[in-house]
Amino acid sequence: MTKQELWQEVLAQIQTDLSSANFSTWFKNTEIINVKKTNVQVGVPNSFVKEWLEKKYHKKIFKIIHDQSPKIRKIEYVVKKNTVNNLNNKNSVPESQLSFQELESNQKTNLNPKYIFENLIVGPFNELPYAAASAVTENPGNVYNPFFLYGGVGLGKTHILQATGNQIAKNFPKKNIKYISSERFTTELVSSIHNRSVEEFKKKYRAIDVLIIDDIQFLSGREKTQEEFFHIFNILYEKNKQIIISSDRSPKSISYLAERLRSRFEGGMTADISFPDLETRIAILKSKAQEREADFSDEIYNYIASNIKTNIRELEGALNRLVIHQKINNNLKLEEVKKMLKGITSPPAKNITPKNVIKTVAEFFDLKEKDIINKSRKREIVKPRQIAMYLLREETKNSFPFIGKRFGGKDHTTAIHSYRKICNEIEKDKKLEEEIFLIKERLLNSS
Ligand code: ADP
Ligand code: MG
Repeated sequence: MTKQELWQEVLAQIQTDLSSANFSTWFKNTEIINVKKTNVQVGVPNSFVKEWLEKKYHKKIFKIIHDQSPKIRKIEYVVKKNTVNNLNNKNSVPESQLSFQELESNQKTNLNPKYIFENLIVGPFNELPYAAASAVTENPGNVYNPFFLYGGVGLGKTHILQATGNQIAKNFPKKNIKYISSERFTTELVSSIHNRSVEEFKKKYRAIDVLIIDDIQFLSGREKTQEEFFHIFNILYEKNKQIIISSDRSPKSISYLAERLRSRFEGGMTADISFPDLETRIAILKSKAQEREADFSDEIYNYIASNIKTNIRELEGALNRLVIHQKINNNLKLEEVKKMLKGITSPPAKNITPKNVIKTVAEFFDLKEKDIINKSRKREIVKPRQIAMYLLREETKNSFPFIGKRFGGKDHTTAIHSYRKICNEIEKDKKLEEEIFLIKERLLNSS
């Protein structure tokens, strides 16, 4: 493997974890400039990038390089002297990759033009949210208000939200549209409090015609932000301004959300995105390949789509890697693809430990680990404890006596009771099913 190919591999893998803006900020004009025995030198355009790569991405970069070339022991980041020339350097991030990545968000609306309905594949899994979003674009503020979209990670919430905004901008060029993540919203509010400019902050939001807030679940527990958001929500709502919200779970399942906000969210249209079926996953891959002017055999599409089932971002990431590899060696064979995607497609290394389960459940419900383990009989703790026991049984196959012991020396009958109870309730209680799904997802991602 040449040093160029090695760096391409790093970029291809890193890209799947980063937003496009981050990717181009930190990896534009980077390259491997030297490989000497066990050392690799990575050239970067400036010291700012150097620091970031060292602090934030080093582990990852090291792992990827080490996987490809196990003899490597050390990676050094050096600032390249003449960065102007590097702009044309063939070894840096390839042109095609950047041009696709680098569409910039509109400064006023924050909307990224790459998210449009034209490149959204619609299938049974997102038909309903798509239909609702389309209706909103025809008549914002008057049909589904608020429009609340929820679903798991990487399933297209941000895409639909932004496409809705972009389409409204097209249909109604005069409308004042704003897309913002709930985290950014919180940060803006906090800094306006700090700078004593809360009035301006409020004024800005009151003047919006279409407010799009992404990942609202992050407002969980932030009372002050929720309060401000509630006021803004009401003002906009009363003026028939459109409000569009996304979340990784239904309004009911967001803990620490003020009741009045929850009922506002439920008062409009809520729609959820589920998982795309095989056919839809293949269609998504084909359309992404086409966008990148690449094509693969049906066998390859089938292989990827059969192995990545629950996350479109991962589908896209796998495809990106193939596209880059195909540029280096034409005519990819299925066997090579299998090797290349090994880490992504084989089921995540299941290294789920009891400790891990308890920690994840505690975090999910915003509790302390010791509360879950100890004796408290409070309702808000008993349920999470039962869920933790259930997951221990399901995911780690521990024995009931072990599970009982792990939870503050309880009898094995308590563990059996908890397990059975959750098994029964999952059947009937959609919210519980959803919560457990989300916790499992976190477990798999963290272990
Ligand atoms: P979420 O916000 O739900 O985590 P995103 O909207 O960021 O997911 O989607 C992840 C990636 O998958 C994005 O690059 C997006 O463009 C792509 N994507 C999601 N859904 C679709 C779809 N139905 N058709 C085509 N691409 C999609
Ligand atoms: Mg998103």
